[in-house]
Amino acid sequence: MKRKNLLTAALFAVIMLVALCSCNLETVFNNLPYTVTEDYTPTLLVHFLDVGQGDSAFIELPNGKTMLIDTGENYHGEGIISYIERCGYRKIDYLVGTHPHSDHIGSMSYIVRHFNIGSVLMPKVAANTEMYENLLKSIESKELTVKNPKAGLKIIRGDDFSARVLGPQEISEDNYNNDSLVIRLDYKDATFLFMGDAERDEIESITADMSADVLKVGHHGSANATYQSFLDKVQPQIAVISCGENNDYGHPHQSVLKLLKQADCDVYRTDKNGTVTVYTDGTKIGVATDGVSIRRAKE
Ligand SMILES: [Zn+2]
Repeated sequence: MKRKNLLTAALFAVIMLVALCSCNLETVFNNLPYTVTEDYTPTLLVHFLDVGQGDSAFIELPNGKTMLIDTGENYHGEGIISYIERCGYRKIDYLVGTHPHSDHIGSMSYIVRHFNIGSVLMPKVAANTEMYENLLKSIESKELTVKNPKAGLKIIRGDDFSARVLGPQEISEDNYNNDSLVIRLDYKDATFLFMGDAERDEIESITADMSADVLKVGHHGSANATYQSFLDKVQPQIAVISCGENNDYGHPHQSVLKLLKQADCDVYRTDKNGTVTVYTDGTKIGVATDGVSIRRAKE
């Protein structure tokens, strides 16, 4: 090969290599299941996954660890794992089941069996359903232990972020909703409050500070979980309601939507917006509503 041809071939190879690399970068970027539109890099992201009528929130923490609060009904496991993988993770460091109802822990057993899990956190409730027994078996087979964090306990302590359990103060034997682990996540100036399905009885028992910028509205927006004196304490800027389209329960309740509107709060709903990603650098807060939906028809 002549020297000139050799140079041309070398140049061609370099151009191809650069094109290939940028193409790969593009592919990786496009593969993220959401788009950040603000002009800063978020360091904490909360994905309120669209799991139809149910709850599931995947959290990317500032230290690179992850948390999953609830898992929706029992046919969402694969979708949740795939979403987490598309965000670039291979492990859930903190897996939280807020309370033993199927719309919250339905897919937890599947996720425990098919993914890498750090610790499992649930309220100290003994449920005798087959689903709950299966979950405990899966946890045991992976040699994981269940932690039952008490109200007031910090379950995560970072340099500039923490997650604290606010409730339940005590276990209610007759209503699992009121056993919900209520979790407050603080990162610099930004605060998130995850209510599970806590109803008025549990909410009234919480004495800790509940003020938050972002509220995961309790019990899918039902009227017994969001009322004026509660909103006065939280004073959220952003509220996210996780519920199914045309669900049988009438969630969210009209009175709740009205109260949130009066409180001048931006409301997002998984039944209308699909997966909602709220992200922050600890000061500014942005919302993406183009998140990939993992909603599936009942199997
Ligand atoms: Zn629920």
